[in-house]
Amino acid sequence: MASGFGKIVVGTYVEIKRSDGRIHQAMVTSLNEDNESVTVEWIENGDTKGKEIDLESIFALNPDVAPDEEIAPSPETPPPPTPTCVKVNKIAKVSTMIPTRARPQQPQQPEPAPPPPSQQPAQLNQAQTQQQLQNARRKSNCVKEVEKLQEKRERRRLQQQELREKRAQEVDTTIPNYEIMYMIRDFRASLDYRPLTTADLIEEHRICVCVRKRPLNKKELAMKDLDVITIPSKDVVMVHEPKQKVDLTRYLENQTFRFDYAFDDSTTNEMVYRFTARPLVETIFERGMATCFAYGQTGSGKTHTMGGDFSGKNQDCSKGIYALAARDVFLMLKKPNYKKLDLQVYATFFEIYSGKVFDLLNRKAKLRVLEDGKQQVQVVGLQEKEVKCTEDVLKLIEVGNSCRTSGQTSANAHSSRSHAVFQIILRRKGKMHGKFSLIDLAGNERGADTSSADRQTRLEGAEINKSLLALKECIRALGRNKPHTPFRASKLTQVLRDSFIGENSRTCMIATISPGMTSCENTLNTLRYANRVKELTVDPNQVMEGGRPNIHAVNQLDLLDEEWLSISPQRDDLKLLCEQNEEEVSPQLFTFHEAVSQLVEMEEQVLEDHRAVFQESIRWLEDEKVLLEMTEEVDYDVESYATQLEQILDQKIEILTELRDKVKSFRSALQEEEQASKQINPKRPRAL
Ligand code: ADP
Ligand code: MG
Repeated sequence: MASGFGKIVVGTYVEIKRSDGRIHQAMVTSLNEDNESVTVEWIENGDTKGKEIDLESIFALNPDVAPDEEIAPSPETPPPPTPTCVKVNKIAKVSTMIPTRARPQQPQQPEPAPPPPSQQPAQLNQAQTQQQLQNARRKSNCVKEVEKLQEKRERRRLQQQELREKRAQEVDTTIPNYEIMYMIRDFRASLDYRPLTTADLIEEHRICVCVRKRPLNKKELAMKDLDVITIPSKDVVMVHEPKQKVDLTRYLENQTFRFDYAFDDSTTNEMVYRFTARPLVETIFERGMATCFAYGQTGSGKTHTMGGDFSGKNQDCSKGIYALAARDVFLMLKKPNYKKLDLQVYATFFEIYSGKVFDLLNRKAKLRVLEDGKQQVQVVGLQEKEVKCTEDVLKLIEVGNSCRTSGQTSANAHSSRSHAVFQIILRRKGKMHGKFSLIDLAGNERGADTSSADRQTRLEGAEINKSLLALKECIRALGRNKPHTPFRASKLTQVLRDSFIGENSRTCMIATISPGMTSCENTLNTLRYANRVKELTVDPNQVMEGGRPNIHAVNQLDLLDEEWLSISPQRDDLKLLCEQNEEEVSPQLFTFHEAVSQLVEMEEQVLEDHRAVFQESIRWLEDEKVLLEMTEEVDYDVESYATQLEQILDQKIEILTELRDKVKSFRSALQEEEQASKQINPKRPRAL
């Protein structure tokens, strides 16, 4: 062996430094005399990797394997700072870290036999020294191991202390959680990053669930919030949750989630679009239905993703998924296959707020949602605008957006409480060919509002909570053969119902997350929700529950279904929904949801009746006017007058009494809702 290699032989483990600054162990697989270097190999993500490193760099990092002529240790004296038996030591240590199968089959130094009694070395020649050394090693292997361990521990302790002191100097102690920051930094340094690239395969999913992390924003940076999210690869999201032990030492709990895709904070909208909504454009040309949702807490980037980047006050909607999808729709239209179909493109844009639908393309007109006998849901009067090019679409998005935020002091305050639905509809000779619904959902943290003191806030919160639960169930139902899905539990799912059914339906959910430590709890909630959407998409047990379905039972179920629908569809869907989410929905919360549903139903009825009464009153006025004019005549028919007046009054009393009774029950429903809201046990997990 060339002496220039010091104590390195093939099979020695050494520390190496990577170009990204990471230091880790690798095994020497060959010694290259001609250029004074060694070849090392290591395992990374199951692959064996290797590189050539010059000796100087190796010795700089591994002084203990550098050539050392003056070795004359006494086995009784404590080993010097650079232990001579480092080679054996490292191999033993590292062999537990590196899988044996991956170790190259290079000859290794045989393990020494059990140690004979020790002898004090005298004047020795080189060969004797070596022999002596080996003997010494054998003699007190056990004692030395212990010493080595102690020494190493001590060294590590010192190193850590040094590191801490060094950090304390360079640390900006105004950072509230700098300890945590370093823990996260160290953790990240040990990772091998493999982010998503355009070269990655775009997979076909019926249900695609992905996560997008936004960068820390100005406000978070100003308050020195920490980024606790790491996206190491194309489909993994890690949350570093700071925790505290009983003895108050802080530590990180790293939670890992896997999705179809994970987009880190450097990912552009275009890139997110490429893997999420773009594959769905084809679906609508193939006569299918597609939905794409942005789900997450307020401020996590839903609108940025769907509608486009807000820089300052203005939104560049050409960079949002709405516009990118529209662009590709017009590109697809030009393809010969689709050109011959002679399709027309339409767009709708509406908002669902507290269970009510408002048309964003028609000055926020309030619209009614009706269901016909064939369970076809209709948003009555919704404006469908024909669009001929991307610019047309951009104009509509602008109109809708300004309508959405008008009259609001803060754009986000309102939009975080409503779902915005933008649809691209393909029609062939007037008949629906395909529909793509792109939805910027209300902030999912709104579930907590159900215990608010303010009714409006409570109702909003309840509706959001309910609709997001219903949405989850509907997406899950898409992936399995479920007999009944709680579409009617919320306006959102009711309106989108046709998009979830049918063979050729596809959906994509983009869960947006804020990176900050202050958002940790909300982020975890978002990730858990997203995880459940996909995780249970195929559940054969559920489909086959109770063994083989028997025809009779199924028929009865169908019948029951029909009956439920005709009695009180919303309430039964709500019940189903709550049963499906028992862990999240406490009985009190269910009662509250029931009260809210009833309230909303009654409100609609009261308003409808009031409108009718109002119309009727105009007629009464006219009739009464005629009647009074009649009395001006000299010889008017008193009897006829009295009869007619009585008729009018009877009618009025009857109708008004009916309305008054409805208002009365409505008022008691309001009170019930208030009572129910106070019963919600705050200790139950939030219903999201
Ligand atoms: P949400 O609609 O979920 O409430 P927004 O889309 O309005 O959240 O985003 C909140 C803020 O963060 C906005 O100022 C937005 O410009 C910014 N933002 C969101 N996502 C990103 C991103 N991926 N890159 C840069 N800024 C972003
Ligand atoms: Mg928003």
